[in-house]
Amino acid sequence: MSTHIPRKRFGQNFLEDQAVINDIISCIGPQASDAMVEIGPGLAALTAPLLAKLDVLHAVEIDRDIVARLQGRFAPGKLVIHNFDALKFDFGALATQLAPGGQIRLVGNLPYNISTPLLFHLASFAPQIADCHFMLQNEVVLRMVAEPGCADYGRLSVMLQYHFHMEKLLDVPPEAFNPPPKVDSAIVRMIPRPFELAVTDLAGLEKLVAQAFAQRRKTLRNNLKGLVSDALFAELEIDPTQRAENITVRDYVRLANALA
Ligand code: SAH
Repeated sequence: MSTHIPRKRFGQNFLEDQAVINDIISCIGPQASDAMVEIGPGLAALTAPLLAKLDVLHAVEIDRDIVARLQGRFAPGKLVIHNFDALKFDFGALATQLAPGGQIRLVGNLPYNISTPLLFHLASFAPQIADCHFMLQNEVVLRMVAEPGCADYGRLSVMLQYHFHMEKLLDVPPEAFNPPPKVDSAIVRMIPRPFELAVTDLAGLEKLVAQAFAQRRKTLRNNLKGLVSDALFAELEIDPTQRAENITVRDYVRLANALA
């Protein structure tokens, strides 16, 4: 078969470093009967070693040429490919099919050009996910795990930390890929958990957080003008002269619940 020319528009940077691949597989720890779904299998750098351990692997891949290459490469029924845009894919329906009443495991060296919207999309299926192991831009991983008071702490941190416990596992340099991406990469583990305080209106929380961080250098009072009154800030004992980056996830949930 001719060699595949990596497509920039699909964020194709193929993993080639065998030591990195081995490290990722051992972080994932696949067990034969796992209901596992890979996002963006590409040329099977992770797919092949995963399939060596799993009974079956499902994969969501947008690129038809890649799908054609993967079809027939593994024993029938081992790799089930969904030729679909992961941003629109119903992971909940697949979870219901693969693990009725249970959860799926997600893995992938994600396309970096869509990583933020993809993470938000996946968060909506959190109750049906057991865990995720993803390769992402290091800069995005740092934002995911950032704590209040850091410059990296923002909308992505708050919304993902509400749904998941997250942990950065490994740094991966550009040379591990072909072609090498222009940024450093990292592996992150995400484990869904019920947050200590449940939000009554998730869409309301999303709106509040987006508005709070609209202008990072402004105070909360300014960014949330018209939405949160000084009386409400006082009642919740949240100082409105702070910036959005200084408020904990719990306080965002308290604010959203008070508005709901
Ligand atoms: N896992 C492989 C490939 C990573 S590159 C490896 O580690 O080498 C990213 C992969 O995601 C490519 O296969 C690309 O075609 C696929 N992809 C890009 N956008 C996608 C989308 N919206 N939905 C599903 N797959 C996508």
